[in-house]
Amino acid sequence: MLWRYHFLDLTEAQKHARRETLTRYALYAQLSAMVPLSTFLACRLAKRLATLAVSRGGAGNKGAYKAVPSSPSPDAVGRGRKRGNYLHLTKRLGLIALSQYPLQYLLSLKSSISPLTYILPSSHEHLNQWHRVLSRISTILLSAHATLYLNFFVQTNRWNRLGDGDVIAGLAAIGLLGMMIGTALRPIRRLSYRLFFVLHVLVALFMPVLVLFHVKHSIAAKIFAIEALVVFVLDLAARKVGTVIADATVEAIPGTELVRVKASMPREKIKKFRAAPGGHVYLSLPPAAREGLLVPVSKLVYEFLYNPFTLASVDSKTNTVTLVAKIHQGPMTSALASFAYKHKSTASSSSNKPDEDTDSLSKTPLAIEGPYGLFPRRFADLVSGKVDRVLLVAGGVGATFVVPVYRALKGEAPSLPVRLVWAVRQAGEATWALAEGEAENVLGEEGVEVYITGAGAGDSSSGEDANIVKGKGKNKGKAKVSVRVEKVGPADSQEGVELTHVVHDLQTGRSLAVGWHRRQRPDLKRIVDEVFTQGRRERVAVLVCGPHGMQRELRGSIGKWVAKGREVYWHAEAFDL
Ligand SMILES: Cc1cc2nc3c(=O)[nH]c(=O)nc-3n(C[C@H](O)[C@H](O)[C@H](O)COP(=O)(O)OP(=O)(O)OC[C@H]3O[C@@H](n4cnc5c(N)ncnc54)[C@H](O)[C@@H]3O)c2cc1C
Repeated sequence: MLWRYHFLDLTEAQKHARRETLTRYALYAQLSAMVPLSTFLACRLAKRLATLAVSRGGAGNKGAYKAVPSSPSPDAVGRGRKRGNYLHLTKRLGLIALSQYPLQYLLSLKSSISPLTYILPSSHEHLNQWHRVLSRISTILLSAHATLYLNFFVQTNRWNRLGDGDVIAGLAAIGLLGMMIGTALRPIRRLSYRLFFVLHVLVALFMPVLVLFHVKHSIAAKIFAIEALVVFVLDLAARKVGTVIADATVEAIPGTELVRVKASMPREKIKKFRAAPGGHVYLSLPPAAREGLLVPVSKLVYEFLYNPFTLASVDSKTNTVTLVAKIHQGPMTSALASFAYKHKSTASSSSNKPDEDTDSLSKTPLAIEGPYGLFPRRFADLVSGKVDRVLLVAGGVGATFVVPVYRALKGEAPSLPVRLVWAVRQAGEATWALAEGEAENVLGEEGVEVYITGAGAGDSSSGEDANIVKGKGKNKGKAKVSVRVEKVGPADSQEGVELTHVVHDLQTGRSLAVGWHRRQRPDLKRIVDEVFTQGRRERVAVLVCGPHGMQRELRGSIGKWVAKGREVYWHAEAFDL
């Protein structure tokens, strides 16, 4: 062989020494990642020192593979000149990769048992980025391990090893990893998130099991695999315990592609949800909810469905939470659409049978787990005097993130100036923010601007009844949320801004002062400039949740002010991964 690593014939004693050395190095590798987590300030210092050392080290030592202390020396096997042990390198790559598995699994934890979220402190979303980095590193190491081993079998004519159970388990593990990486690629993940998700869960479960079958001698590797498996199982158990099966009503918001999910929750959960503005929950369908479901996918899929939805409102008077979901073609939102359809038909048939209780008929059990989210942990920054002004921008259903943050800011820092800009296609998309209870009146507040961007908005001179949801059964005759969008003549133009619509709540007869509307998209550049020119030294927080184009445009407009030295707190919430 051309390079310095060779296939050496070792005695049993030498093999034993090699195993011990490998184990020691694997433990070093694991501790090297774990210790700094608990003392991460010291770690940052160490990292700086390490970077300094590398930059001073010069290129001469780069990539050198140091002889492993107490590994069998080349002399010991009678070669006469210094040669690297090929199999030692091969095994070491695999073992070092496995030594990272427990940490890799810990970094992916969603449940509250994650110790890292407390140590650092951070959120699942944040730690998950490091989970991805570590996964890539360990996968590269494992692939190198497999490639070198296959080369060894080829070079030494050991083809028969490919039929052995341990090698088959190893190859299966590498195959699974390859498939997982394939489905994690953005275009494929976009095509089928479900495939990526299901495969991810299966690989997470089976990798440690396959490692146990693959590894013959290394106790360390087995311990790493068991540790990872324990973390995985504990997380699943904690998530199960933290999940509430809630009775929910699912209603379509007429004239839109939205459904409103209103779920009753235990009081202690409501407290947690209220403390997490901008947080989200994971929604899944318990078996009882799947009965009679009319969806074009196998019901088995619902075993693996945990879809995130933001807490659009939390009402501690009625102990309910509201989620607003846009219907796509995936299995979860199709199921929600199907419940909404069932709710509608149940409600209309029961309206002919006065004795029946509509509410109990139309309730669906939904599994709700949470709250999660990076932003709830950052919310304190906004209300603790670190910013002087807040601009909230939402596009469409992105307001499920922005509106609760607006409400929380108004509650906890009433003197903080907040401007909310919300672009919707049709007026109906904004009606959920008028919902009853504690969530009332956001649209009527000063500083809240709703832009109705749809082509037909306000075109009818007689006005557009955006959404009228007639109550049925007990609520028969009551209009729950109803909005009328009226076109206003050119005489109402003011300072160059055309007042195109006034939105009325038909139930109360109130005119909702939703601000000035244009028939086009909000001019984000102008809005940003207005916000930043309010005070020369003001620190401004900008939070956005909407389409990528909107986020890019907003970021671009803010860049100018950052370049001028303005302090900006930026948070972009993304609904698609
Ligand atoms: C933090 C967060 C909050 C969200 N809040 C809302 C909201 O309030 N209202 C709303 O209408 N939409 C929200 N979404 C988007 C919503 O989750 C998806 O539109 C929905 O899950 C699609 O479901 P589906 O059955 O149509 O398709 P699926 O095939 O089940 O999923 C389609 C897409 O949804 C996302 N998704 C699904 N499951 C997960 C998961 N477990 N983790 C991360 N992303 C996932 C992925 O981007 C995926 O490509 C949010 C997304 C995220 C990440």
